[in-house]
Amino acid sequence: MKKIGFIGLGNMGFFMSKNLSTNNYIVNGYDVNQEVFVELKAYGVNQKSSIEEVSQENEIIITMLPNGKIVEEVWTLLMKDIKPKTLIVDCSTIDIETTKKLHNLAEGKKILSLDAPVSGGTIGANNGSLTFMVGGKVEAYKKMLPLFEIMGKKSILCGEAGLGQATKMCNNLLLAITMSGLGEAIKLANSQHLDMNKFYDVLSTSTGSCWALNNYSPIKGVGPNSPADNDFKPGFSSQLMFKDLTLALSAAVDANINLEIGKKVLTNYEELVNKNKGNLDFSSIVNLEK
Ligand code: NAD
Repeated sequence: MKKIGFIGLGNMGFFMSKNLSTNNYIVNGYDVNQEVFVELKAYGVNQKSSIEEVSQENEIIITMLPNGKIVEEVWTLLMKDIKPKTLIVDCSTIDIETTKKLHNLAEGKKILSLDAPVSGGTIGANNGSLTFMVGGKVEAYKKMLPLFEIMGKKSILCGEAGLGQATKMCNNLLLAITMSGLGEAIKLANSQHLDMNKFYDVLSTSTGSCWALNNYSPIKGVGPNSPADNDFKPGFSSQLMFKDLTLALSAAVDANINLEIGKKVLTNYEELVNKNKGNLDFSSIVNLEK
């Protein structure tokens, strides 16, 4: 059985590592928050107490961490004693510049690496139905494919190192914009005293349908079960969406292009975070009062 190292066992990494472990991989996990193992051990994930321990005994190592600074710190520690032929894969959402640095770190040690951010949220992570957007070499992608197939329903090799993250940025820019647009449609619907179940029935099967409404309805008690039914407990936090939009807008500045709607939506998420609501699900943007 293949040994897999997994670092970062939070909202996403918890389920992804669980799925690997319950599909006959030996999973050696590490998280600064060792309390995650209270539940994870029941799924057979082994508790490791340092990054060094993870670096030495696994054929594939996956990181799923909050931001680029932390991923770079973790990869730097991992590289110190990494075994030759290890494949290292970052599934976090981070900036392109750091992503390229990570690939260079790996190349310096002559090991394969991938950037492989995901879409699908905690529900997709739990069900094993994530989409992976992958950047790196074909050889590395082929080695990782059986694991992508357990943790997700689809993986696409988008191109060379960094292009997985570039694709993810575009996806989340669009998601933040559609969720914000949906907020305006809901506001208008409420002002017209519409029955929200009927509103959902019509829009989810009309040209207004979108993932944000059909799969993640931000209206309490309407549509499939979602964070809106659980006081907007994430899910995918507004803080993380703010981070992703910041990455997208900064890439746009670097590319000398203007993303007008994206800039507006970014300021809305910034306002949520400044109101100490960054820990609520990103779909709570529909309730931001303007
Ligand atoms: P999270 O904050 O729930 O989990 C991150 C985990 O990393 C935590 O358990 C934390 O203790 C651990 N950690 C932090 N620093 C560490 C270190 N130095 N060493 C080891 N562990 C450390 O975040 P999440 O929601 O699981 O998201 C993880 C990544 O996936 C982020 O980059 C996020 O943008 C991305 N993402 C999240 C979602 C989602 O729906 N939550 C969806 C797609 C992508």
